[in-house]
Amino acid sequence: MKITFLGAARQVTGSMHLVTLQSGYNILIDCGMDYELKRNPTFKEDIFPFNPADIDTVILTHAHIDHSGNLPSIVYQGFKGNIICTGATSELTEYLLYDSANIQLMEYRKALGNAKKTKRNNVPKPLYMSSHVKDCVDRFTIAKFNVPFTINKEVKVTLIEAGHLLGAASVKMEVVENGITKTIGFTGDLGRSNSKLINDTTILTGIDTLVSESTYGGRKHKITRPAEEEMLHYITTTCIDIRGRLVIPAFSVGRTQSIVFTIIQLKRQGLIPNVKIFVDSPLAIRSTDVYEKHKELLNPEAFAFQKQYGSLLEHEDIEYLTEFKHHEALMYYTDPCVIISAAGMVEGGRIQEHITNNIENPFSTILISGFCAEGTFGHRLLNGQSTISIKNKVKRVFAKIASTDIFSSHPDCDEVFNYINQTHQNGCKNVFLVHGDETQMTAMRDRLALAGIKVEMPEQGQVFEL
Ligand SMILES: [Zn+2]
Repeated sequence: MKITFLGAARQVTGSMHLVTLQSGYNILIDCGMDYELKRNPTFKEDIFPFNPADIDTVILTHAHIDHSGNLPSIVYQGFKGNIICTGATSELTEYLLYDSANIQLMEYRKALGNAKKTKRNNVPKPLYMSSHVKDCVDRFTIAKFNVPFTINKEVKVTLIEAGHLLGAASVKMEVVENGITKTIGFTGDLGRSNSKLINDTTILTGIDTLVSESTYGGRKHKITRPAEEEMLHYITTTCIDIRGRLVIPAFSVGRTQSIVFTIIQLKRQGLIPNVKIFVDSPLAIRSTDVYEKHKELLNPEAFAFQKQYGSLLEHEDIEYLTEFKHHEALMYYTDPCVIISAAGMVEGGRIQEHITNNIENPFSTILISGFCAEGTFGHRLLNGQSTISIKNKVKRVFAKIASTDIFSSHPDCDEVFNYINQTHQNGCKNVFLVHGDETQMTAMRDRLALAGIKVEMPEQGQVFEL
């Protein structure tokens, strides 16, 4: 069999790896949107370097758009097989894909409005529409964690808890060719050992080959205190001491739920009375229901909490805003409060209005809660500029800008190293690094080399015989 690296090769986004068996059977692991390509002006609609009709099965590791975002495209371009994933992943992915179709349509409408009449034909069209999402969702086939799923007589797969997001899986694929069994593992995106809501990462064992993420291959998380203490600090210093507003840009799926759960734990202990919390993201609200529903995937602490209080993410002081008029009304709310809204890197979404509304207010704190790619608004905010342009206006930065790694859903360099080292000690012979920019990946490769572990950093399109 052979493996072809078609995405997230020496970059973070666009995860897509193709396993081709000797018989010609093709299995695609993830089919994610490539943001780096999208930013490139030569971006084309022809996004697959293969004929989608030639792919027999897709395995989806988790819901995030950089892993799932091109699934509607592959389906409408001719893929006829099943998309195997966990139940929670299927539900979260459905919400994320509809949201993605919606965002693309809005961006298209805006670009059409801005383009001169004669240039309108050149405006890039959305990659897919809501109807394509429906056709894609119909192909989801649910597999349970730790229960081997037979694809055909040559290959079976087992999904293992990756600990990165509700339902997120690592994939163990066992292939029998000429009477020999070969085992290949894909980490998907990994989690950390102290996740607020879900179980810790389970390390893949009994594999010959590992394809590992390396998002933070060269970076150590700055974590000095537990999540509750970190949140208590920011809420106390902003909302209680100076009666200001704490604005937290956060991804709607995963990050928002971890932050809300931490705040509710503080509320239940009576540590932050009289501070209202607003969650201003319709996608976050829909995803929150999936977390409440899939009790079986919660870690023991979250499971016990839900049992004790009847709910994980509900509290009388927390308001979830779905309607746009409530979002608008929040702009005029003057009491101390916490506002959690998307998008996490402040590239679009309702958070932009909250940033615009608070950035010149010295009593506000903007707390960046996750990775912000270079070139994004979140990244510029963290650079410490004294003025910043948002929504076509230049604003002075009077608000306090802070950041925390405590809610990061990816392992840092020590954790990635330990993972790979452990699989190596368990007999894994080949390691490929994906899902990391070149600097992060190179740092991990060099560190592993010192420990006697040789790894590959495949280029886009590179093929390896296994
Ligand atoms: Zn992810």
